[in-house]
Amino acid sequence: MTRTLGKIAREMRMAEPGEIRLRFGKCPLCGWTAFAKWRANAMATRCLSCRATPVAMGMGAVLAERVPGFRRMKVYELSSRGPFFHFLAREVKDLTYSEYFDDVPSGTFVGGVLCQDVQHLTFEDGSFEVCTNTEVFEHVPDDLQGFREIRRVLAPGGAFLFTVPLHDAERTVERARIENGVVVHHLPHEYHEDNIRGRHKVLVYREYGRDIVERLRTAGFHESEIVPVRDPSGMGHTPNVVFARKK
Ligand SMILES: [Zn+2]
Repeated sequence: MTRTLGKIAREMRMAEPGEIRLRFGKCPLCGWTAFAKWRANAMATRCLSCRATPVAMGMGAVLAERVPGFRRMKVYELSSRGPFFHFLAREVKDLTYSEYFDDVPSGTFVGGVLCQDVQHLTFEDGSFEVCTNTEVFEHVPDDLQGFREIRRVLAPGGAFLFTVPLHDAERTVERARIENGVVVHHLPHEYHEDNIRGRHKVLVYREYGRDIVERLRTAGFHESEIVPVRDPSGMGHTPNVVFARKK
């Protein structure tokens, strides 16, 4: 807790004291806590106990609501860090997790962590009952192939929950694509920070619109919807979690 507060305090350094808001409430990942907000950006609202952002809290809230038995299920999460991962690691008995390294083949271990490219998973068909990830798919060159792979490794009835930056637009905008093995940019390059490799930046291939639900159906999911989440922190954020189910 002290370490967590120290990290958040460092992130808050830029805020004027009068700009910092505190509220008490229930974090879907760690229970009763205080939330702090020090800038308008959703990354600058955190649970002060587990450091969850509104997006991570949204994942926890939708998982509990849509898949109430998840603690006893086979769950696959595409990360090995962060408050949502730590929540799963604590709560789920049968958790598989992985990271993506662009220079390592799927199925190998790097520093004890399994590496998987979501476009080419090495798991057997029907291996999991739930698959989760946050802010991954905007970086996947062939997202339809990634969605098909997740559907393949889910058992019948399996649930897929994830977040991506969702834009208030009907259609997804492609920023870049791979053609003949080379990245072709249609729009100025945009990168996000990779939280496992610090300053390593990862390319944003697309800005998703509301048609993400149709993309999931194209990839074979039976149900898909964007679930708006009532912000557990009460700070006015409305994270969206995408929920899909295999028949
Ligand atoms: Zn928390």
